[in-house]
Amino acid sequence: AQVPRESEIKAAMQEAYDQFKSNTGGANANYIPYLDHVNKNLYGIVVATVDGKVYELGDTKYEFGIESCSKIFVLALAMQERGLKQIEDSIGVDATGMPFNSVIAIELEPQRTVNPLVNAGAMATNSFVQAPNKQAKWEKIDAWFTRFAGRKLPVIEELYKSESETNQHNQGIALLLQSYGRMYDDPLMTCDLYTRQCSYGVSARDLAIMGATFANGGKQPVTKDQIIDTKYVPRILAIMATSGLYDGSGDWLYRVGLPAKSGVGGGIVTVVPGKMAICVFAPPLDKAGNSVKAQLAIQHMVKKMGLNLFDSV
Ligand code: GLN
Repeated sequence: AQVPRESEIKAAMQEAYDQFKSNTGGANANYIPYLDHVNKNLYGIVVATVDGKVYELGDTKYEFGIESCSKIFVLALAMQERGLKQIEDSIGVDATGMPFNSVIAIELEPQRTVNPLVNAGAMATNSFVQAPNKQAKWEKIDAWFTRFAGRKLPVIEELYKSESETNQHNQGIALLLQSYGRMYDDPLMTCDLYTRQCSYGVSARDLAIMGATFANGGKQPVTKDQIIDTKYVPRILAIMATSGLYDGSGDWLYRVGLPAKSGVGGGIVTVVPGKMAICVFAPPLDKAGNSVKAQLAIQHMVKKMGLNLFDSV
């Protein structure tokens, strides 16, 4: 796989940036009060390549809530610790086609927890992380995210507080999973740890580098740390391809042809296997909870650089 030239990457970034900068579509997530108040004009684009180069444009240093983008990294941790079978059998790897916090999705398949990238499956995945107690579990998750980012990530305490005060729906899902025997640690403790993992502050730069670790076979391209076994990477990317943008996942794959993960903080990270990750951050979201500008910008860059996995010519 050939990484696009620097001039090509920069030109694609600039074009995407300019083209969508004044787009006013979408609205900030408002079910988490903190997110509702984030400046809706923030807009940053970052490309991180597998050879450790990082290109930035716009608001790439602003630390936003990682939210659901955290799910892919906790999945990587659970996979590395427990292996594939446990994830496949207990959590499941199929798409739901339903909203990220759907309760119906759980009811339809009580044998499993849907998939690791919707809230139910993400909480079950978090509950798999092995540690003797809550504190140790958090420290393990924190150390894991530090390796992906190549720096210790802050938790945005104000976001954590805001989300903790309003996460009754997720608590309900966690308890429901317990009733089905699909929660593997204390449900409310797990929901709290999940809420905390969603409250990490990341910059678009951080998230691009974290994503580029998947593009690079599980090896962090800047620190050269082999974080997960290469054999797990295609599995994680496959789940991202079918489920990374919730009920928008099918449309996304149809248009862009690459695995990605979104978060209601406004970030989307897209992985181009063997080449790079692209992260775009812009808070306003569409109805499914995916950043409007980030989707447009990434789609534009992917087209411009010819990165769609299904383009065979
Ligand atoms: N923490 C958020 C929630 O559980 C994450 C959702 C998201 O980013 N889609 O509701």
